[in-house]
Amino acid sequence: SEEKSLNFIEEIVENDLNSGKYETLVTRFPPEPNGYLHIGHAKAICLNFGLTQKYGGYTNLRFDDTNPVTEKTEYVNSQQEDIRWLGFNWKNELYASDYFDELYGFAVKLIEKGLAYVDESAADEIAALKGTPTEPGQDSPYRNRSIEENLDIFTKMKNGEFPDGAYILRAKIDMASPNMLMRDPIIYRIKHAEHHRTGNKWCIYPMYDFAHGQSDSIEHITHSICTLEYVSHRELYDWFIEKLEIFPSKQYEFARLNLTSTVMSKRKLLQLVNENLVNGWDDPRMPTISGLRRRGFTPKSIREFCERIGIAKRENLIELSLLEFCIREDLNKTANRVMAVLDPIKLVITNYEKGTEDLIGENNPEAEDGGGTRVIPFSNELWIEREDFMEVPAKKWFRLAPGAMVRLKFAYIVKCEDFVKDENGNVTEIHCTYIPESKSGSDTSGINVKGTIHWVSAPHAKTAEIRLYDRLFVSETPDAEEGDFKDYLNPESLTVLPNAYIEPALADADLDGRYQFIRKGYFCLDKDSTADKLVFNRTVTLKDTFKK
Ligand code: ATP
Ligand code: MG
Ligand code: MG
Repeated sequence: SEEKSLNFIEEIVENDLNSGKYETLVTRFPPEPNGYLHIGHAKAICLNFGLTQKYGGYTNLRFDDTNPVTEKTEYVNSQQEDIRWLGFNWKNELYASDYFDELYGFAVKLIEKGLAYVDESAADEIAALKGTPTEPGQDSPYRNRSIEENLDIFTKMKNGEFPDGAYILRAKIDMASPNMLMRDPIIYRIKHAEHHRTGNKWCIYPMYDFAHGQSDSIEHITHSICTLEYVSHRELYDWFIEKLEIFPSKQYEFARLNLTSTVMSKRKLLQLVNENLVNGWDDPRMPTISGLRRRGFTPKSIREFCERIGIAKRENLIELSLLEFCIREDLNKTANRVMAVLDPIKLVITNYEKGTEDLIGENNPEAEDGGGTRVIPFSNELWIEREDFMEVPAKKWFRLAPGAMVRLKFAYIVKCEDFVKDENGNVTEIHCTYIPESKSGSDTSGINVKGTIHWVSAPHAKTAEIRLYDRLFVSETPDAEEGDFKDYLNPESLTVLPNAYIEPALADADLDGRYQFIRKGYFCLDKDSTADKLVFNRTVTLKDTFKK
C-alpha cells in the first residue's frame, strides 16, 4: 500500500514523529465494558493498532470502566477475545478504574488550586443556571466556597458520608463560555454502587471527561483518537491537562462508522438482546464482532473493509453491501466448493445400474494452490433443488423440465422423462435417464446443454439445518426513523431450512471451515451443531442481491 495516500491522522502522526515532537507513538483503544464490540469498534481498533503497526510504538487496551452500574467482567472478556480475533495485540491491559486513586488526587489538586468546588444544588437548579448555547449561564451559589470547605466535603463524599446525588464536584471554569461543556462541568459524582473491579472501595466516581484525558496522560498516549461527538470535549480535555500540569496527550477526532440497515450503539444492541429480539450478542444478524464471526466473516475481510472505508472528518453512511463484498472476495479464494441441497426434491435415474460410483470434484478452482480434489459419491437416487425443476418451463429455462436435459455438476447429463405428483398436485419425484458417455472430464456424448445443477446422492447424504439471513432492519437508517428503532426490525431476517442435504465430505466440517455451497452462497458451521445435526449459517450470497 506504498502508493496509497495518507489519511489525515497518518499525516499528523508522520509530522509529529518527523518533527521530533514525540519519539514513540502511543495510541490506545478505550472501550467501555458495557457490551460486546461491534463493527464500528473494529474501525477504531484497526485505526489505533494500525497506526502503531505502521509507525512503530505501541497501543494500549484500556477499559474505560468508570461507570460501575453498566460494566461487567463478561464484557471485558468478550472485548479482549474480539480484538485478538481481529488480529491485534495490545502492549498493556489497563483499566481506568486502576487510576481511581490518581484521579482522586487530581481532583484534590484542582480544589487546592481553586479550580474545583463542591456543589449541593439540586440537578434541576444546576440545569437552570447552565444557560443556553446563546445565553451565558449563571454562577452557582456554592461556587465561591473556601478551598478548606471544599476539601472537607469532598473527603466526606469519598468516605461515604452522603447519599447519591447529595453533592457533586465541579470544575470551576467559565459559566459564560460559548462551549456549554466548559460551564463548570461535573467531574465527580456520588454513586453507592459496586464496581466490577474495585468492589465497594469507592462511592464516588469520576465523570467521563475527568477520567478519559487524564488516563491518556497517565499512559503517555501521544495521539488520543476518538469519534466526532467529542470535538466539543477537546477544549475541556486540554484544560484539565494544562491545569494539572501533566503529560500533554492530544485528542483527534474522526467520523464514526455508520452502516446501513443496522444499529450500532451498545445500548441499543443490548435492548435487542434483553428483549429476545435476537438470540444473544453473537446472533449472526448482529453487527457485533462476535455476531460477524459466527456468521462466517473472517478477520481479514473485516480489516479489509475498515481499510476500504478509510478515515474521514465528516459523518457518512456506508453500505452494508461493501462489507459483504469484502467477505465474498476473501472466501472466493479460500472456501472449498461443495454441494448442498437446501430445499430438496428426489431425482431418480432409471437407467443407472452401477449402484454407486465415486466421482472427483474440484475443491476450489480459484485457490492459489489449485485447491485439490475430493471424492463425491454418486448413485441412482439424488436430491436436487426443488427450484431447479419446472413442470411448465418458462422462456429461456435451461434447467430441468419434462423432456429437457441438464448437466449434473461433476457427473453426467440427464434427461427428464417423467415426474410424480402427490394428491395435492405437488411434484414429489423426478424421473430421468442419464447419458453414460457424458461423464464430466471424459464426455464423448457430443451433447451440449446450457444448464448445470448441483445435487447430493440420497443414500450418502447427511442432513443439516440451514439458516439464511437477511438484513436485521427493513429501514436503511433505523436510528433516523420516527418512533422506536425496534419498530423497523425485519421480521424475515432469519429463515430456517430444517431439512437440507449435504454431501458426506461436510460431515467433517469444523467451526473454522468456510464453504461455498455451489450456487447457494458461502456458509460456515454454527456452534449449535451437534453430532446428530449439523447447522450451517449462510455468511453471504454469491452475488449482490441487495442492490437489485
Ligand atoms: P457505543 O455507544 O456504540 O457503545 P461508544 O463510543 O460509547 O459507542 P466505547 O466502548 O466507548 O463505545 O468505544 C470505544 C472506542 O470505539 C471509542 O474510541 C469510540 O470512539 C470508538 N467507536 C465506537 N463506536 C464507533 C463507531 N461506530 N465507529 C468508529 N469508532 C467507534
Ligand atoms: Mg464511550
Ligand atoms: Mg456508549
